[in-house]
Amino acid sequence: MASNETPRQWLQRTASRGARWSRLSVIAGTLSTLVLMVQAWCIATIAQRMVIDGADFSSLLIPLLLLPPAFIARGLLVRARTLCGARGGIEIRQSVRKELLERIAVLGPLWARRQHSATLSNRVWDQVDALQGFYADYRPQMLLCAIIPIIILAAVAPLSWAAALILLATGPLIPMNMAMVGIGAKKRQEDQFLEMGRMSRHFLDTLQGLSTLKLFDISKRQANEVHTASESFRRRTMRVLRLAFLSSTVLEFFASVSIALLALYLGFVYLGQFNFGMYDHGINLFIGLFILILAPEFYQPLRELGVHYHAKAEAEAAAEDLMPILNRRVFERDNDQPPWQPRAGLTLSLEGLTARYAGRESPALTEVSLTIQANETLAVIGPSGAGKSTLLNVLMDFMHPEAGTLRVSDGDHPSRALTDIRPDDWQHQIAWVGQSAVIVSGTLADNLRLANAHASDQILKEALEQAALHHWLAELPDGLETRLGEGGRAVSGGQARRIALARAFLRDARLVLLDEPTASLDQESERLVMDALSRLCKGRTVVLLTHRMELLALADRVLMLSQGSVQALDTLEALRAPGGPLARSTKSETEVRHV
Ligand code: ADP
Ligand code: MG
Repeated sequence: MASNETPRQWLQRTASRGARWSRLSVIAGTLSTLVLMVQAWCIATIAQRMVIDGADFSSLLIPLLLLPPAFIARGLLVRARTLCGARGGIEIRQSVRKELLERIAVLGPLWARRQHSATLSNRVWDQVDALQGFYADYRPQMLLCAIIPIIILAAVAPLSWAAALILLATGPLIPMNMAMVGIGAKKRQEDQFLEMGRMSRHFLDTLQGLSTLKLFDISKRQANEVHTASESFRRRTMRVLRLAFLSSTVLEFFASVSIALLALYLGFVYLGQFNFGMYDHGINLFIGLFILILAPEFYQPLRELGVHYHAKAEAEAAAEDLMPILNRRVFERDNDQPPWQPRAGLTLSLEGLTARYAGRESPALTEVSLTIQANETLAVIGPSGAGKSTLLNVLMDFMHPEAGTLRVSDGDHPSRALTDIRPDDWQHQIAWVGQSAVIVSGTLADNLRLANAHASDQILKEALEQAALHHWLAELPDGLETRLGEGGRAVSGGQARRIALARAFLRDARLVLLDEPTASLDQESERLVMDALSRLCKGRTVVLLTHRMELLALADRVLMLSQGSVQALDTLEALRAPGGPLARSTKSETEVRHV
């Protein structure tokens, strides 16, 4: 994957993903021109025999019989051409979108969080959609522009060299004019995309901050800003459209003038004024009509290309925006590692781990060394900014330490460095429950099967029971098939958290990572979540970030982090003992006080 690839090269390379369909589209387009020639022959023959030769009806039979099927065939071929082109575009877009999503997954949540979500979704949806016109219409049309005029020329040249010459001379005028108009179009289109991105970011920010804005009574000003942004967007859109219309008007004009020129020539020939440009057989009605019927088809591909010209500018602008993600060098290990499937509880050894965020001067974790025993529950506490979340990011393999190693052992095998395990294999062994549980729009079963696509209904029910959700399940009208999320049944914060826990049970992962699993829950929900947690922690290695005293009771040991370093690591009793770092905390407190 060349890093200095131009958008045009990228578009070219990507075209191969839908090549089958675009080839079919070009074939259909070519065939429809051949069918048109049959039509032209029929019509010209009928006219010649009826008007000039005065032949009887029986000699018209063949062209008359041929004409209706030719009309139908041409209609079908034109339709097939559009459909095949569209199909190719869809296939390419699906493939690009898939690659993009995979890329975003590899770049990881840490990267995604740094992007504005409006920009990211704009890329995945709108920018990828912007490729459709290019692949569905523009590219097949490009090829047809080379094929169809040559076919027409080949048919016209043996009949009249002057007519062929007129076509040949006027043809290039069209692309020349198109290029002149098109130069400005690309720049405009790029501006347009930038503006669209800016507008959606602005709108999303406004939406997210709506309650704050209302409280401070500045929502009016924001509304005005949204209005200004959309007004400027409208003006740009009109400018792009104006250019597009202008270019197709120019094309129509040149095509009409060229056809008029041809008609003029034939007229003068019939009047006997012109006596050149033909061969010995002269130009009869058949030849003239045949040429005139075909002439518009000669210019048609170029005219259509003009209509789709903006699709090219649009696709190039989109490619330019997508390429940085698609071609971004990511931290990739060679994926030839042997598959890894742990057989027993995981022991994690952190050896002098130092991790730093890009652009940060001081590391977020500094030489952290400790061992998390198999099936141990380790609670991690520390003030905000101590490095707790960073530790989880490193454990999830989303963040790569700049020094030190993380070794993993499952008891049976000698320990392996995390860098020697395929990220997929590793992440498969992890269950994660954070402060915000994701509920996707779909049924309860869909939501659970995210963790294990092949789980039977019975297994789903068992997981719900483990997560203390079986009473809730009994209340649901459609059981596992009840729709949740948007347009479905509302899910409370506590229920969402327990659905996330049920997923952790389903996943049956060896390593469970919990980030404040009881944050912002009411007491009843908290109790249910705690129950489920104590079941989940059994027989698994667990790392639990928390502020809550109650949760510390679940832990075998407590790690105190401070400014990225280990401050203490011991059992809760030892930390609480007189003289210990948590000595001043009392049992009745709910929040850990940091000293
Ligand atoms: P905690 O979870 O204990 O509150 P974090 O691990 O989130 O702490 O943060 C540790 C340090 O790393 C802090 O100084 C924080 O400012 C910094 N940090 C956290 N996330 C990022 C990030 N995405 N980019 C840059 N710095 C970060
Ligand atoms: Mg944090």
